[in-house]
Amino acid sequence: MDSQIHKIHQQLVNKEITCTQLVNDKLGLLKQNTHNTVNSLLDTLALDLAKKVDQKIANGETIGLLEGIPFGIKDVYMVQGTITTASSNLLKNYKSAYTATAIQKLLDAGAIPLVKENCDSFGHGSSSENTIFGAVKNAINPELVAGGSSGGSAVNVAKDYTVFSIGGDTGGSVRQPAGYNTIYGLKPTYGRISRYGLMAYASSTDCVGPIAKSIEDIRIVLNTISGKDVKDQTTYASAEIEQSSILNIEHIKTIGYFKNFVESDAIAPEIKAAFLNTIEKIKAKGIAVKALDFFESNTLVSTYYTLAMAETASNLSRLDGINYGERVEAENLKETYSVTRSENLSEETKRRIVGGNQVLSQGFSDEIYLKGLALRDEISKNFENDFNEVDIILSPVTPNTPPKIGDSLKDPHAMYLSDAYTVGFSLGQLPTLTVPQGTATGLQISAAKNNDELVLKFANFLKDTL
Ligand code: GLN
Repeated sequence: MDSQIHKIHQQLVNKEITCTQLVNDKLGLLKQNTHNTVNSLLDTLALDLAKKVDQKIANGETIGLLEGIPFGIKDVYMVQGTITTASSNLLKNYKSAYTATAIQKLLDAGAIPLVKENCDSFGHGSSSENTIFGAVKNAINPELVAGGSSGGSAVNVAKDYTVFSIGGDTGGSVRQPAGYNTIYGLKPTYGRISRYGLMAYASSTDCVGPIAKSIEDIRIVLNTISGKDVKDQTTYASAEIEQSSILNIEHIKTIGYFKNFVESDAIAPEIKAAFLNTIEKIKAKGIAVKALDFFESNTLVSTYYTLAMAETASNLSRLDGINYGERVEAENLKETYSVTRSENLSEETKRRIVGGNQVLSQGFSDEIYLKGLALRDEISKNFENDFNEVDIILSPVTPNTPPKIGDSLKDPHAMYLSDAYTVGFSLGQLPTLTVPQGTATGLQISAAKNNDELVLKFANFLKDTL
C-alpha cells in the first residue's frame, strides 16, 4: 500500500476533493460501522477544522502535508474539552482539561481528529473486549477479536475509517492489533514521543504509537510527534527520518531471531512455518541470519505483568471518585473510595490493581517486584549484547491467530501468554514495528534503542522481498 497521506494531500491541493467532503465521508463510515470502534465522534471539531483547510486552499495558500488529513485517537489521550473515557465506567463522563503533546503536535500540523477510539480499559488487555463500549470486532473477520488494547484504532485504519490512528503500546497494544488486522503499527523507542496527556498504565514502558497502512505514513506521523518535551522527562531529541534514507538497506548485514520463540510448543504450526519460510527468503537475499538465545516466554510474560501490574496499581490510585471519576457516595470517605472503585472498574482492571498492590506490599516486594526489576535489567543487557552481533531482530507478533470474541475473557492467563512475543521488546524499550507480512499476524522488526530509522528501512526491504 502506498502512502495515503501523500495521495490525499495531492487530491486536496489539486482540488479533486474538498476536506469537508473527505471528513464527512469518514465520519459517515465511522457512524455506520458495526465493529464497535467508536467511543465518541469529534464531528463538530473535525468539520470546523476541515472548513478552515478548504478556505486556505480556496485562497490559494499552501497547505502542509498533514493538513486536512483525518485521524483517530485511542480513547486514552487527552484532547482538551473532549470526553476521555479509557473505555471505563469510572471515566465515562471525564472531560479532558488539556491536550496530549503528541496530539497537539498533530493538531499544529493541521491533521484533523475524527474520533476517540474503543480500546481495552486503561490499556488492560489484548483483545479490546475489556471495554464498556462492546468488544471491538476484527476488520477481516468480525467474529474474531480485533486485538488490543488499541483494537478500535487498528480496525479504523484497516477499514479506511481513519487515514492513521494514534494508539498506545505498553506491552504490545499497537503491534498486536496491527498484526491481527494486517496493517503497520509502531512502538517507537521509549522516550522518543512524549507521553504527556496519555493516561498512564505502566509508565516505564508506555509508548505513543502510530498505526497506518504504509511505512511512509508511519514515518510522516512519527517525525511529526517525536521530540523532547519538558512535560515528559523521559523524552529525548531525535533526528528527523528522511524519506530517502529508509529506501536502501545497505547497512543491514545481519539479522537475528529468537530460537525459543519459534521452537516453543505454544506457536501455531502455520505461524512457525511462515516465519521460517520468511527467514529463508531473507537469507536468499544475501543477509546473514543468526539464531539467538532468549528468555523463556513464561519469564518474559511474568516479568512484564509483575511490573505492569505494580505500576498500574500505583498510577490508577488517583481514580478514587474524589480526584477523578464517577463517585459512588457511601457512608464515609473510605467506603466511598471502595464502592466507587469496586463498581466502576472492570474485572480485568481490578485483577491488575489487586495483583499490583500484592507484589508491592511488604513481605512480597523483595521476592517478586524487585526480582522483576532485576530480570528487566537482564533482559535489556541481553538485547545490548544481541545488537553487538545483529542489526535487526525479527520475530512473529503473536504465537497464534486472533481468538474468537468471548474466548479471552474466559481465560485471562491464556490472554497474558498470548503477549509472549511483544512484551520483551517493551521491557527493552526498543523500537519495534509490526509489518503485515511474513505470517498470518505479521512480523515484528526490532532494532537497538533510537534506531527507529533502521526498523523502517528493514520494513521497506521486507515489503519488496516477501
Ligand atoms: N496486552 C498487554 C497488557 O494487557 C499490553 C497492553 C498494552 O500495551 N497496553 O498489558
